[in-house]
Formats: sequence, structure tokens, C-alpha cells
Amino acid sequence: MSKTYIEPQKELSVSYTADVIVVGGGTAGAVAAIAAAEEGKSVIIVEQFGSLGGSSTNGLVCPNMGVGIPGNPACSSIARRIFAKLMEYGATKSNGTPNPAAFDPRIMSIVLEEMCEEAGVKILYHTYFCDAVKDKKGNLAGVIVENKTGRTVVEGKIFIDCSGDADLCVRAGAEYTKGNPETGKNQPISLRYIIAGIDCNEFSKYLQEQIDRTGVNCGIVPKDCYAAVTGLIEYTMTTVFKEAIAAGDLIENDMLYWQMFSLPGRADSLAFNNPEFFDYVDATNPEHLNFTQLKGKQAIFRQLKFYKKYFRGYENAYIAEFASMVGIRESRNVVCEYVLTGEDCLTRKKFDDKFVQSNYPVDIHGRKLHFDHEIKPVDDKPYYEIPYRSLVVKGFDNLLVAGRCLGAEFLAQSSMRIMPTMRASGEAAGIAAAMAINKNIALREVDGVKVRERMIELGADYVV
Ligand SMILES: Cc1cc2nc3c(=O)[nH]c(=O)nc-3n(C[C@H](O)[C@H](O)[C@H](O)COP(=O)(O)OP(=O)(O)OC[C@H]3O[C@@H](n4cnc5c(N)ncnc54)[C@H](O)[C@@H]3O)c2cc1C
Repeated sequence: MSKTYIEPQKELSVSYTADVIVVGGGTAGAVAAIAAAEEGKSVIIVEQFGSLGGSSTNGLVCPNMGVGIPGNPACSSIARRIFAKLMEYGATKSNGTPNPAAFDPRIMSIVLEEMCEEAGVKILYHTYFCDAVKDKKGNLAGVIVENKTGRTVVEGKIFIDCSGDADLCVRAGAEYTKGNPETGKNQPISLRYIIAGIDCNEFSKYLQEQIDRTGVNCGIVPKDCYAAVTGLIEYTMTTVFKEAIAAGDLIENDMLYWQMFSLPGRADSLAFNNPEFFDYVDATNPEHLNFTQLKGKQAIFRQLKFYKKYFRGYENAYIAEFASMVGIRESRNVVCEYVLTGEDCLTRKKFDDKFVQSNYPVDIHGRKLHFDHEIKPVDDKPYYEIPYRSLVVKGFDNLLVAGRCLGAEFLAQSSMRIMPTMRASGEAAGIAAAMAINKNIALREVDGVKVRERMIELGADYVV
């Protein structure tokens, strides 16, 4: 048996009280907080880092994926307002619909802070959620947080877990699943980075020359400086990677998943969606996170040297940013009143209490989808929906979950995790929290149809 110590019991003071407590200020958490505050509730966000946006800012995940539905319904009106501000600041080219669109991650964090401030949200930065405090009925009374002042309690009426890893739900005793049911493994994780000092015109010409040289036109858009390589098929850039591996300038892992995007407002910069790691992928295991930060930075430096030696336009290039937050695609998912399944996504299931519509594919990195029975869409409408019940944590009256850890199976999570969906989940959760407080009812009694009606009233649109 390993050596143990007893932590002494101590009385904790209540440092803050609000109607709604949001744990985690990422994409979903920031929107949940804004939504609840705009519905007239006092709101506190508990966030471990010093900026909002989570993966989208500290993780440098700055391309917004599209939901893939003709007409791009913007199910979150707050998302539309976020992108309107980004557009005003020259930090995106998106008009706010959930189209594929890149944005500047630093300006995104400023926009989220501005909107929280305007809505009256209290942000508690550099404060780590540690544990849940329950009342006699087993519902949540508060959360124990820790920061430089020590451990205190933040009290609330409704709690929204937007920690991505379901930290609050797990500490409160909610059931959860984790990883691929076939292997137990989570999705691959990445450490993203931004390279600046690039002559993008020269690099764009170089990309075009690669198409001419190799005769392969795949995974590359020279005019946008977009390029990608995965180990699965032959891409235009695969030849260059293979040459560098043979010369000892890269290792095999560097080409298993490599992808770059341009950054609006940063003419000399490109954002990279790699290096990706396939083995140490448990975001709830600090050793795995250590591995990614350490090996990730080594890989990034190796890749920069590769760009300088093999590409054109990189003569003055340098690493502008490493992600301070490891890029976690999937960790834990909470068992909710409804758990979205892979089959729901693939058969495009519809729900009366939907809060979002998406047609983003099931997207499991490094693997092909394993689904062994016939999948027939329920209708000819090209999207699935996620119900409000997937946000209501089973067994609790006052606990919601939004973001990538909401109630979904592994396959479904791989589709629903994109940012437009995450923002809609936050908005629905914030509005539902306010409704539950106004009516003094449990969250499972909140009518999801009314939540959506309110979202529409505020400017969301859905395909009928
Ligand atoms: C490498 C990678 C590439 C991706 N590519 C794309 C893409 O191209 N387009 C797209 O749309 N989506 C993409 N995604 C998916 C998308 O970025 C995420 O699913 C989404 O951003 C998750 O948002 P979230 O709010 O649920 O969680 P997160 O953004 O992870 O936010 C969680 C927040 O909670 C905080 N937190 C966690 N635990 C605690 C605690 N105990 N105490 C206090 N604070 C805590 C964190 O600091 C963080 O701010 C990608 C994801 C990854 C990882």
C-alpha cells in the first residue's frame, strides 16, 4: 500500500455568493455566464487561468468549424454577437454564422471579457475548482475553490459545469463515461502553436509549386496558406515530410496529423493544429498532460527547424505562441437525462427540446468510424439535433453541464464538440438556469422547448 496522509478538517468561509455558478470559462462557460447574466441573474465564473475562452484561446484552437447545414443556422445568438465584435476588431472574416472561420485567439479572449463585463458577470481568475459541497438532499450548495487566499466556498443556486473534463459533476458524484468504449482510450490530444514572421506570399507560391512538382493536389489551398497531412492518405505535402523523416529532420509522429490555418489580422502568422499525440491521451492524468507539454514543445521546435529548411517564406519565422492549455478533444462525458448517441448523429435524430442543430461529421482522429449496422437517416433533413435534456445532470436538481463534457457517447461527442455547438450548449444552459430560478423548479422540470423559444426570441435561428 502506498504511503498516505490525513488532510486535517477545517472550516471554510464563503467567499462569494451568486445565483448561478459556472465552473470553467471556456467557449461554453463564457457563453453560459453571459446568457444567465443577461437573463437578470448574478453569475460567477470560476476559471483556473487568466483569460476566458479555454481551448479557443489558451489552447489556440482558433478555426471555428462549420456545422455543415445549408444556410448555417446560428443556434446561438451570443455566438453571432461574439463574431460581430471580432469582425469589428478585424479579428475574423466570419459574419457570425457557424461557417468555417478562423479568428484571432487573443482578441477572442478580449471580446469574451468585454461581453461578460457588460452583462455583469463576476470572473474569478486564477481560481481552481476543487470540490463540491452538497446539501442534505444531495444537491449542490456550493463549490470549494482554491487560489492564493487558500480554500473557500462559492455558494450558488444553480451550477453549470463547463470545465470540459466534468470536474464539478465528477466531484459531486455524477456518473460519467470516458474514452472509446472499444479501447478505453480518449481521442488524441495536441499542443497547438502559432508561427509568426512568415512571408505568406512566398509560402503560398511554394505550396503551389508542390502541387506542380508532385502532381498531387490534396489537403492544400495555396492562396489561403492552408495545408494538411495525416498518415492516412497521400497528401501533396506528404512527399516533403517523408524526405525530412528520411533525413532525420522529422520523426514519423510529425506527419500522423499536421495542419495549418491562416489567422485573420495577422498577415505574417499561421496557426498549427499539431503536434498530435496518440498514446498519452488521458486529460485527467497529470502525467499525460506533462508529456504533451514537454514532448509537444520539443516537436514544435523540431517542426520550426523543418519549415525553415524545407519550406520557402520561413527565413525569419519564429514561434510566437505555444498553447498554455493542452488541446483536449475529449475526456469525460456526464450521464444526463438524455445521452446523445453516435446513432443519433448518424441517423440525424430530431428532438422537440433541441437547442442546436449540426451536421458536423463524427470525427475521431487517427481512426476510421467503427459502426457495424446499417444507418438510415430518420428524414431527409441534413442535420441532427441535441436536446436540452443532454445538459441536465442525472440525479441532481440544480446541476447542468455544457460544453464538450455534456451528455453524449464517445462517437456523438466527436461530432458535437465543435465550437458553434459548444456556444449553443452554453447559451441554452444559461437560459435554463435562469428559468429554473425564476420558477423555483428543478432543472429537469424546465421545458426545453421554452428554452429554445427564448433563444429564438433573442436572435437564434434554426432550420425548420
Ligand atoms: C486540438 C484541438 C483542435 C480542435 N479543432 C477545432 C476546430 O478546428 N474547430 C472547432 O470548432 N472546434 C475544434 N475543436 C473542439 C473545440 O475547440 C472544443 O471542443 C471546445 O473549444 C471545448 O469548449 P469547452 O468550453 O467545452 O471546453 P474548454 O474550452 O476546454 O474550456 C474549459 C474551461 O474550464 C477551465 N477549467 C477546467 N477545469 C477547471 C477547474 N478545475 N477549475 C477552474 N477552471 C477549470 C479551463 O481552464 C477552461 O477555460 C478542437 C479541439 C482541440 C483540442
